[in-house]
Amino acid sequence: MNNVFRWASLVGVLVAVVLGLCLPQMAEARSGHSHELNYFQSSRVKIAGANALRIEIGMTGDEPKYTVNEYLLRRQLVIDLSNTGKGKVKRQITMKNDFAKQVQITEAGGKTRVTIDLTKAPVPGTYRISTLPADRRAKKPARILVEIFEKSSAMVSNTPGVKGKTIVLDPGHGGSDSGAVGPTGVKEKDVALAVGRKVQKLLANSGAQVIMTRTTDVDVYAPNASGAQELQARCNVANRNPGTALFVSIHCNAFSSPAANGMETYYCAGSQKGYELANLLNEELARAGGLFNRGVKTANYYVLRHTNMPASLIELGFVTNYHEEKLLQSDAYQTKLANAIVRGIARYFKG
Ligand SMILES: [Zn+2]
Repeated sequence: MNNVFRWASLVGVLVAVVLGLCLPQMAEARSGHSHELNYFQSSRVKIAGANALRIEIGMTGDEPKYTVNEYLLRRQLVIDLSNTGKGKVKRQITMKNDFAKQVQITEAGGKTRVTIDLTKAPVPGTYRISTLPADRRAKKPARILVEIFEKSSAMVSNTPGVKGKTIVLDPGHGGSDSGAVGPTGVKEKDVALAVGRKVQKLLANSGAQVIMTRTTDVDVYAPNASGAQELQARCNVANRNPGTALFVSIHCNAFSSPAANGMETYYCAGSQKGYELANLLNEELARAGGLFNRGVKTANYYVLRHTNMPASLIELGFVTNYHEEKLLQSDAYQTKLANAIVRGIARYFKG
C-alpha cells in the first residue's frame, strides 16, 4: 500500500469510529430525553424538629438517575440528572431564605444540571437528596428531593463503636511553635487545633472519653522548649492515663516546592495495631478529603515511638500548597476531615 492509500484508509476508519460514537447520541437528542423537567417547588419544612428547606424538582417519566457533587469552597451542590432535558422549568430561580440563594438549571450532553447556591458549605449531614415516584393524588410528578438542614447533623450524630473508649488527640504544634505556614499565612498549629477540636466534639458526642494534649493555642510543655521536651509532654498525656486506647496526632505537611500535595498517615514500624489504625484513618481521609493519597507510612516520629499504645500521626494535606492551604483553613473541609477521622477510629475499634 502506498502512503496515500494508507492515510485514506486510516481517515476512513476514524470517520467510521467517530460517526459510530456520535450517531446514537444524535439520534437520542432528536427523539428527546426520557425525562423533561416540568415541576419546581421550594418550601420551608420541619425535619426532626429542626428547620429545613425542601426543594422538589419534578419530571416526566419515572424517577431519574442522578449524581451529586458537593463544592465546599463555592458552597454549591451540583446534581446531574441523566437522560433528562430541562423542559419548561425556569432556568434560574432566586431564593430568599437562610439556606439557599438560587437554583440554576442548565442542560448539556443529555444531562440536566441543577446547581444550588447555598448559604453554607454542603458538608455531609447538612443535606439529603432522594427521589420520589409520581403522586397522582397530590398531582405531583416523579421528583428529586433536596432537603437542606439548619444544623449539620454530622456534628451531633452518634458514631457507634467508640463509647467508653479513652482516646488522646494531639493537635500538633501550638503556642510559640506555629508549625508550617502556608503562602497566605495559614498556620499548621491552627488547622491541627481546629480539626482536633471537631474530632473531640464528635467523639465525645458518641460517648468516648477524649483527652486533648491542648485545647487552645499553647505549648504543651513550655514556650520555646526543646523538641524532645515538647513532644514527650504530649506522650505523657497519653502514657499517664492507663486507660488510653489510642493516640492520634494531627498535623499538616510542608515542602519547599508549593507543588507538593496530598494526605498521608504514619505509624511506628513494627506496631501492627498502629498500622491498622493508620490504614483506616488513611482510607477514610482519602475518601472524604479527595486529596492525592500519599499512603500509609512508617516514620521515626517522636510521638509514635514514645507512646505506649497504638498511635498514628496524620498529615492532613500540604499547607504549603495553595489549593490545599485554602481547603485546610475552610471550616467545612475541617469538619469533613474530622468526621473521616472519627469514622476511622470507630472502624479500628470494630476490628
Ligand atoms: Zn507538624
